[in-house]
Amino acid sequence: MPLLSIVVPFLDERESAPAFAGFLKRLTLELRDRFGLDTEIVLVDDGSTDDSVARYASLIEGNWKIAELSRNFGKEIALFAGLELAAGDYVMMMDADLQHPYDTCIKLVSGLLGDPELDVVYSVRDDRVRESPSKAVGSRFFFWLINFRQRFIVPANAGDFRIMRRPVVDAFLKVRDKHRFNKGLYAWAGFRQKGIHYIPDERANGVSKWSGLALLSLSLEGVTSFSALPLRVVSFCGAMAGLLGMIYGIKIIFEVVFDGIRVPGYPSLMVAVLVLGGLNLVLLGLLGEYLWVNTGETKDRPLYLIRKLHQSSDRT
Ligand code: UDP
Ligand code: MG
Repeated sequence: MPLLSIVVPFLDERESAPAFAGFLKRLTLELRDRFGLDTEIVLVDDGSTDDSVARYASLIEGNWKIAELSRNFGKEIALFAGLELAAGDYVMMMDADLQHPYDTCIKLVSGLLGDPELDVVYSVRDDRVRESPSKAVGSRFFFWLINFRQRFIVPANAGDFRIMRRPVVDAFLKVRDKHRFNKGLYAWAGFRQKGIHYIPDERANGVSKWSGLALLSLSLEGVTSFSALPLRVVSFCGAMAGLLGMIYGIKIIFEVVFDGIRVPGYPSLMVAVLVLGGLNLVLLGLLGEYLWVNTGETKDRPLYLIRKLHQSSDRT
């Protein structure tokens, strides 16, 4: 039987562990009966401080692994760790908080198995209507920015919740970026992909681990690893400011030489100093962002460290 690995990163999900274990049990049975698939569950503990690991280890049935990372590395890296451990011919990634509906899981699987030409079926969340207008505008602007004149388009709202064939997983594992912006990497990888829409369920317990600030930082990661547009815009502004300054300077010289007008100095100087100084600082900060990403990438550190690997075969 072909093997499907279900990769799930989690951080402090003790409350939803029993429900999620039930969810996986039901899914595993349906996958076997309806699609003839064997299932392997690969959980990645992204530095939980509660007893999630012990709970999962006692609750989950069948063939499973739990990789305990040495600390919190972030969901994107945790997913990568899960992909490295997954042995399946197909790999599905999903969250542990029961926000990913059962039916959508089935749709992902049947979508991929039903079309041999497809390599990836990904999910697109359709709940942006619930979002605040400012967040929606921010998200639009972000996707416009990273997709501006690119050879590959990053679809908005397409998430990690997806299923891929083995060759795609292997390709993805070759990307060793440390600052990982998964949405961008999926698009960058190419392959034949299809999206299906879904509306996520409410979180079963707890709150989302994405604060506004974390989202902002992830967006910045997306921009610095996929777009040079901000740099170019600032360079363009700099060039324009220089050009305008030159024109203004020539005008002043003419006025002084031919009309004998005395130029009022202070206000014009102040404006020039502030505008150019501001631009300079913005560009410096931006350069710093790109450099920071670059520094991280050049250090030859492993992406993650595993403290302990638990397996269903240990529990006999
Ligand atoms: N998660 C993780 N590491 C983190 C943050 C979150 O592994 O640093 C897990 C979390 O336990 C959940 C999934 O990633 O299984 C999605 O997280 P969350 O529900 O907080 O995000 P949202 O659904 O709001 O995108
Ligand atoms: Mg969630």
